[in-house]
Amino acid sequence: MSQLTYSQWQSLAQHIDINGRAYINGQYCDAVSRKTFDCINPANGQLLAKIARCDTADADIAVAVAKAVFESGVWSQKSPAQRKKIMQRFALLMTKHSEELALLETLDMGKPISESVNVDVPGAINCVNWYAEAIDKIYDEVAPTQHNEIALITREAIGVVAAIVPWNFPLLMASWKFAPALTTGNCVILKPSEKSPLTAIFIAKLAEQAGIPKGVFQVLPGFGHEVGEALALSNDVDCLVFTGSTSVGKRLLQYSGQSNMKRVWLEAGGKSPNIIFADCIDLKKAAEAAAWGCFYNQGEVCVAGTRLLIESSIKAEFLPLLIEATKQIKPGDPLDPATTMGAIVDNVQMDQVLKYIDIAKEQGCSLVAGGEQWKQQSGGFYVNATIFDQVDNAMRIAQEEIFGPVMAVIEFDSIEQAISIANDSDYGLGAGIWTANLNTAHKVAKALRAGLVWVNNYNGGDMTIPFGGFKQSGNARDKSLHAIDKYTEIKTTLIKLED
Ligand code: NAD
Repeated sequence: MSQLTYSQWQSLAQHIDINGRAYINGQYCDAVSRKTFDCINPANGQLLAKIARCDTADADIAVAVAKAVFESGVWSQKSPAQRKKIMQRFALLMTKHSEELALLETLDMGKPISESVNVDVPGAINCVNWYAEAIDKIYDEVAPTQHNEIALITREAIGVVAAIVPWNFPLLMASWKFAPALTTGNCVILKPSEKSPLTAIFIAKLAEQAGIPKGVFQVLPGFGHEVGEALALSNDVDCLVFTGSTSVGKRLLQYSGQSNMKRVWLEAGGKSPNIIFADCIDLKKAAEAAAWGCFYNQGEVCVAGTRLLIESSIKAEFLPLLIEATKQIKPGDPLDPATTMGAIVDNVQMDQVLKYIDIAKEQGCSLVAGGEQWKQQSGGFYVNATIFDQVDNAMRIAQEEIFGPVMAVIEFDSIEQAISIANDSDYGLGAGIWTANLNTAHKVAKALRAGLVWVNNYNGGDMTIPFGGFKQSGNARDKSLHAIDKYTEIKTTLIKLED
């Protein structure tokens, strides 16, 4: 993607034509109710666009279309090689429009344009390509049955998949769902977050231009308690894939039980520990990684290393390095390519972050960096990178997901204590370990109840690694070939051979 200047991005932002309509059965349309809601730019609080406020009526239409199209076989019965070619064209069209996609992402949710350009958009394109490339190289199985039997174990598309996604990486999280779901032959209804619907709406037409038949990929913007709930309660949605908060994830499991027992796959919240042992190879490097591992994307990251566990003997040396690294991450205008930290997605989320900063102060934690609202004159929603020292793991800022730039520093004195603190959480998504000792690394990695463990790095990994959590961080995995399990049913066909 071309690297534009600040003024070029500002000029593009002034002229971009923003589409806020739903995409149903191959057409952009208003919500049946004609209702809309406001899409606000978090960098300045100004209106970007009016968005179709879909609800049950729109969900019913989209689900009926998806069901009929799935059953017609126009997509589900294409060969994997045919679907691969079409998905690759989809990725190519996304690449062609990557500048617009990056701009929409930044305007919509406030992340720095450099990250939209270099991480989110290329990451989503790579995800589409990755599943496209994989799909015609996966074989089914033959079970080791009796001599006079042949048992075929085949995977089939599950049907209508509703994908309900969050706002922190709108396009990337969506791609982790729709790419494997479409590639395996399903019909997908994507429900973006009401806080960040723009890129999902934009790519709908690209999918169809690529050759994905109409009705196979539909996009319904709207609120969770309206169109999200309607999809989750529908008897004709076969699978619900979700990334978002643990509380909403729990609700989706109930909706499934109240309706058709649709498969529900959840990627939920986190409160991830990043553990620095005294024998850490390079403290400066660990401090920089810890700062970015917590404050990247304004701290609005499910795997953010928000609990920094530090061995007492090196704390006095480590903390100044951490504070120094954190000073490099300052909120700025998301459209400036030099900005490393953007705006918080909206005023509700900003107030939540500020509330937790107050709670930490009230509970006696010691503020050693940040802790303030920032750039108020802009009309936008900014909070600077915040570190609290003297945190006890039982405190609210160590137990509850804040989903903003707030780090809690917690001391430990032994490997056992580090493991115990790290695992003392409702969540189990990510965890970091910094040590030179192979034995410590393996011992701690095995003991941690987390889906992702990074040793001497934080939040590394590409499409090849499964992504998801233990405990209340979810019940599924995105990325890698493991994600395909969510979008397929296993069928056994047992054939008896006559003598
Ligand atoms: P959220 O749970 O508020 O919303 C997520 C989605 O669910 C949105 O599209 C929303 O409209 C929808 N929704 C809300 N209520 C609903 C309902 N009653 N029925 C159906 N749908 C409903 O989460 P968020 O604030 O958008 O995102 C932040 C959360 O996402 C954090 O908890 C974060 O940890 C989590 N997250 C997890 C991962 C992961 O892979 N584990 C990745 C990114 C974000």
